Amino acid sequence: MIIQKTREEIELMRESALVVSKTLGMLASEIKPGVTTLYLDKLAEEFIREQGAIPGFLGLYDFPNTLCVSPNAQVVHGIPNNTPLQEGDIISVDCGAIKNDFYGDHAYSFPVGEVSIEVKKLLQVTKESLYVGIREFKLGNRVGDVGHAIQQFTEAHGYGVVRELVGHGLGKKMHEDPEMPNYGRRGRGKKFIEGMVVAIEPMTNMGTKDIKHLRDGWTILTRDGKPSAHFEHDVALVNGKPELLSTFKYIYEALGIESDEEAEFRQDLS
Ligand code: MG
Ligand code: MG
Repeated sequence: MIIQKTREEIELMRESALVVSKTLGMLASEIKPGVTTLYLDKLAEEFIREQGAIPGFLGLYDFPNTLCVSPNAQVVHGIPNNTPLQEGDIISVDCGAIKNDFYGDHAYSFPVGEVSIEVKKLLQVTKESLYVGIREFKLGNRVGDVGHAIQQFTEAHGYGVVRELVGHGLGKKMHEDPEMPNYGRRGRGKKFIEGMVVAIEPMTNMGTKDIKHLRDGWTILTRDGKPSAHFEHDVALVNGKPELLSTFKYIYEALGIESDEEAEFRQDLS
């Protein structure tokens, strides 16, 4: 069952999302060659707690850390460790936080130093596919419309859309109804309703869509060993339209990137 949120609850969820947005922004200036993901994890946990929030992933389904960090061929759910990041890596950093009893959950894939042109394109297309999907999250549409749009866009670039992992409803639980696949058929699936909140999160492989599982019980990798990217935003359906709760603006501030990509998903709710 899809749980509708009131306007007040949506504003509380914006606070939860912003804890994560600021955490990713803080991490953006720390991600460089030589840094370990365990160090990033420690920074993130402290930073979340300083904001009066609780790490959302730590202990959830027994996950051992605050961040899911997934470099290169890892798709998602990578566990922080002591291996230093290297020039040319990409790393998906997925972070959750609980504030006011609500979850925030979003992710960004960072280049480490200079990356190849091919990898840059993978990052750019995956992020763009996220916005292509969010545009379809509106009243009158269904779950399949978002998935279809992301899939079409992604496959047109020759990339693989991961099937086994999907976006989801978000609220007092990390995973609520509905599931939000990054593939699908137009007009199919559950109908969107006013006040629902979802995490939309394309996971895009440069090569095959197929994945495999690492023995640690968590880490998901591409089957062909090619890189994979992952971007995630939290979005509420307000006035029939998508309203972005999370933001990449803190990341862009840290990295000196100019972007107005989020402007179309912000309403004046005052
Ligand atoms: Mg996430
Ligand atoms: Mg998620």
